[in-house]
Amino acid sequence: MCNQPLRDDQPLARLLSGQTTRLPALCRRCLAQFELIDQQDACPGCGRGSSSTLCQDCQRWAAQGETLLHHRAWFRYTAPMKAFIQQYKGLGDYRLHSAFADVLQLASRNQALVPIPSEPGHYARRGFDPVLGLFGHLPLALWLTKGETAVPQAQKTRAERLVTAQSFTAHLPAVVPPRIVLLDDLYTTGRTLYHAKAALRAAGYQGEVISRSLIR
Ligand SMILES: [Zn+2]
Ligand SMILES: [Zn+2]
Repeated sequence: MCNQPLRDDQPLARLLSGQTTRLPALCRRCLAQFELIDQQDACPGCGRGSSSTLCQDCQRWAAQGETLLHHRAWFRYTAPMKAFIQQYKGLGDYRLHSAFADVLQLASRNQALVPIPSEPGHYARRGFDPVLGLFGHLPLALWLTKGETAVPQAQKTRAERLVTAQSFTAHLPAVVPPRIVLLDDLYTTGRTLYHAKAALRAAGYQGEVISRSLIR
């Protein structure tokens, strides 16, 4: 991110122990620009920071009859994170895909980690899938496909995003775990993730569906 050499001061005993040591993806100064969400006071429905009771977005999803995703995100959408997304997704700087791999850790026992896929047209233009890139160090279950939508989510207003039509299809294996964790880069309105969940239900999945994203 800053192109400075990475330093990692390891105690001599650790270096001599023969254990493998791995440099972190980002230097401490770069990582410190980003603001982790305090999970203790995050919205129980969507993981929004500083909202210890159910936020208005989530109250609206609940009023529409949705079972909440109990979404959790690692980082707030601050100016440095917007710059990161612009460089990674906007300009297509794929080197950044592993920037948060140390932080984005999830267990895969008894649950499937299902990434939200790119639209085929976006994939063709960008040359990579940004969500697969971010979570590529985890064992992913590629059970969702996405059709083309007329206007990309990023170019829509908030109201337009909320009325977007379903564009996901799920293809489940014969044996499925009791829980699915949907993975995305950014949670904005929740529309995408609730559509993905509906596609899993339409394919017959009856287990628990929750979600995680890099940013909220
Ligand atoms: Zn740096
Ligand atoms: Zn919420």
